[in-house]
Amino acid sequence: MRRTLVRKLREKGINNEQVLDAIGTVPRHVFFDEIFESHAYQDKAFPIAEGQTISQPYTVAFQSDLLEITPGSKVLEVGTGSGYQCCVLLELGAEVVTIEYKEKLSMLARQVLGKMGYHANFLVGDGSQGCPSLGPYDGIIVTAGAPIQAIEPLVQQLKLGGKLIIPVGDLNTQKMLRVSKVSENQIVREEFNNFSFVPLLGDNGWKN
Ligand code: SAM
Repeated sequence: MRRTLVRKLREKGINNEQVLDAIGTVPRHVFFDEIFESHAYQDKAFPIAEGQTISQPYTVAFQSDLLEITPGSKVLEVGTGSGYQCCVLLELGAEVVTIEYKEKLSMLARQVLGKMGYHANFLVGDGSQGCPSLGPYDGIIVTAGAPIQAIEPLVQQLKLGGKLIIPVGDLNTQKMLRVSKVSENQIVREEFNNFSFVPLLGDNGWKN
């Protein structure tokens, strides 16, 4: 089923072999209740606890590709959710700090990843402010839909050459952005497809 999913992602334009290998390696059904396991390898988002979602595999692949991770890259993920995207980043060789607003989700993700033998640094808190104390990062990936003001504080936490991947827009639709820090006072901003994420909460998000 994972192979079929990888084939579908390839057909949809994902051609980063490392990302496709990672998607082909990480079991997605472990993030689902048993009765919903049949949905795990469909290319769609799915509800998880606390009214949140596990991202669509295409979205996970798309964002992971934009990050351009190399083994040992230090990545901050804002929005742990189920922990699935975190596993894909770990398979790509990243060292991951992942922050989640909802304590229960962070706890569940920590348990699931622990059982699978994946290691990440799980934090609970408002990731719309990033996590400067553990930075700077080679990459920051935001997995919730953000308003424009979320960009600036996160870019400040990037290393030179680092990349922020963030869906920015309103509460319904967001454009995927890659913001690269090319020097201390210069960024390059690229725009990609439209997506529809659950809202980024917190001080630099849509509040509560
Ligand atoms: N990456 C996740 C996965 O693979 O399952 C999908 C995450 S879900 C689409 C977005 C997550 O962002 C939700 O779990 C939500 O609680 C979390 N979130 C929203 N605002 C946040 C914030 N300010 N800080 C940290 N997490 C936040």
